[in-house]
Amino acid sequence: MLSEFDLIKEYFQRPHHATRAALGIGDDCALIAPTPGMQTAISSDMLVEGRHFFAGEDARRLGHKSLAVNLSDLAAMGARPVGFTLALALPAADRAWLHGFAQGLFALADAFNIELIGGDTTKGPLNICITVFGEVAPGRALRRGAARPGDDIWISGTLGDARLALAGYRGELAQPLDDASQRGAAARLHTPVPRVELGVLLAEQGIAHAAIDISDGLIGDLGHILTLSGAGATLDVDALPAGDVLATRDTALRRAYSAAGGDDYELCFTAPASARAAVLAAAASVATPVTRVGIIEAQAGLRLVDAAGAPLDLRLAGFDHFTS
Ligand code: ADP
Ligand code: MG
Repeated sequence: MLSEFDLIKEYFQRPHHATRAALGIGDDCALIAPTPGMQTAISSDMLVEGRHFFAGEDARRLGHKSLAVNLSDLAAMGARPVGFTLALALPAADRAWLHGFAQGLFALADAFNIELIGGDTTKGPLNICITVFGEVAPGRALRRGAARPGDDIWISGTLGDARLALAGYRGELAQPLDDASQRGAAARLHTPVPRVELGVLLAEQGIAHAAIDISDGLIGDLGHILTLSGAGATLDVDALPAGDVLATRDTALRRAYSAAGGDDYELCFTAPASARAAVLAAAASVATPVTRVGIIEAQAGLRLVDAAGAPLDLRLAGFDHFTS
């Protein structure tokens, strides 16, 4: 039988590098030594079985995704990741599950050179809560309320394939996906890539004004930027970069899932038109595609238009856990 403390030691405690944390796992608290003059960015995201993922979901993919969605929040703030904690409720101490989960988790952590510095482990329905810590220079964070009329609206990567994969699993599609397409779209749902390098550059170089990561669908998440910025926007729905698989589907589905799909973990950010060349150069330097999809305006409200500029009435809304 694997005890709570054996489990932590075996699967989550790794040789301490002392690069980031002054004291890691094993004491009552971790200690981190902040870089002088920097602000600490902190964010938590929880993944609940049956709510955020299906029961029986592959453990390695869960390890990746639970950290990825947290890093995506740091990216959206323009903060450089430093470390994270992991609070885990597990129905059983299952070695195969723990091994896979730790592999997915640490592969992504190592890719960003960040350390797991502490957490909590308890028995219970599967629930994974990570808190990430990052650093950003004072005044550089990409706040949601910082969009200004005249700003361009940009999107990193592509949208909608994660939602398409979910629709495929649920049997919601009038024209089902073939196996290869379902697998391709599902990779976007299960293993999102947080846009950390892009977010950090946009903040460090003072290129972007506002940013948010797209977790609940673009329209809902852009709506948060508009509300907090006291602004409105016009969004060209046909300019939205659809995922590779979604791009092969009909216009109605492409519009719906790219504008309001969810689980995309791309960045939506605003920047003045004078920064277009700087945005493209920053994006190219981190090999992240970006697409300009609209404009921030003084007039409140979000106006959806098609490629010809004609109004679109899509009746789409962002995801909300208590109303969706
Ligand atoms: P306490 O009882 O003081 O809360 P615990 O016994 O829960 O401490 O944890 C012992 C140590 O192991 C602590 O340093 C804690 O941060 C760490 N820890 C517990 N669970 C995890 C986990 N899932 N991942 C990483 N570290 C963990
Ligand atoms: Mg504890």
